[in-house]
Amino acid sequence: MKNDSHQFRNSFAEIYTIIGSSKTLPKNVPNLRTCRFCGKNENDVAFKKIAHACPELLGQNNFVIYDECDLCNEKFSKYESHLSKFFLPYLSVVGVKGKKKIPNFQARKDNDDEKTRTSVKYTDDGKINLFLSSLDDYKVDIENKTMSIRFRNPAIKPIYVYKSLLKIALSFLPKIKIRKYQLLFDWLQNDNTEIVFFSTLFITKLTRKKFGKPSVQLYEANKIFTDKGFHPELTLVVNFANIVAQIYLPLSASFDYPKSNGKSPTLELYPAFHYNMDSEKYENVEPDTPITVNYKFESIDLHSEVNSIRDEVINFTFESGDFNIEKNSSDFL
Ligand SMILES: [Zn+2]
Repeated sequence: MKNDSHQFRNSFAEIYTIIGSSKTLPKNVPNLRTCRFCGKNENDVAFKKIAHACPELLGQNNFVIYDECDLCNEKFSKYESHLSKFFLPYLSVVGVKGKKKIPNFQARKDNDDEKTRTSVKYTDDGKINLFLSSLDDYKVDIENKTMSIRFRNPAIKPIYVYKSLLKIALSFLPKIKIRKYQLLFDWLQNDNTEIVFFSTLFITKLTRKKFGKPSVQLYEANKIFTDKGFHPELTLVVNFANIVAQIYLPLSASFDYPKSNGKSPTLELYPAFHYNMDSEKYENVEPDTPITVNYKFESIDLHSEVNSIRDEVINFTFESGDFNIEKNSSDFL
């Protein structure tokens, strides 16, 4: 089940309180390690792998949890590979260093045509090599040093992207809240669990800032019902590369469904645009300069369980480059 109808307002800070972040993660290994996802303890399952609350594909981090078993870790890596493909153009172009290195991007081929394949590769000395096979896929403005590239993303299952984000959220959920939100853990493990969820992913693409390392904030509503609507109990905000991503988590088993009858969900959006406003580059900007043009907002539906393809168009500026337009490829610094 999912719910598509929603309305937008912005009083995020009034409704939501932060309950999870890198600061709230337990720092010590417990005496008996028990998996928060499957409930098994170290007598039954192994805890040999280092489990990250926020996957390192979104950028190197030390957000480690001690209550994710190796079996669950392996299971969730299936979802994470879809999350990785979904955001790869950004991680690659912005240059987010993952576990080992900045990921290379290779596009899907359309109609088995090699010419539709764009790729981004990093050389050992940190230069970007962009291979743009199709002239339709990019526009270069050499004078203004701007470039627009269409990335033909490989096929992914949108629901796995959602579940991967849900897994991040549940990793940051304080232990005392696990029982209340047990249904969300059940659904993460088992596709057949009945749940109500809001499948929209909200993305703000910052143009004036990138995050050196990812950060995660999990928020809980301190007030659910209003006259006309209701607020989903939990929402997750993840910052990485030049992206602020937000989802609403599925409703818990204790959600008051009778009371929500006739009301529609009110999705409070995290005010991500403030990152652009806070940017140092704006220190000398006139107060009345419009800043709204400096970020791009997008919402993407992630409910589908079938493989889907999606193109991502990224606009960026560059310092210098050598262009070999005739060869249909370009290498630049
Ligand atoms: Zn487990």
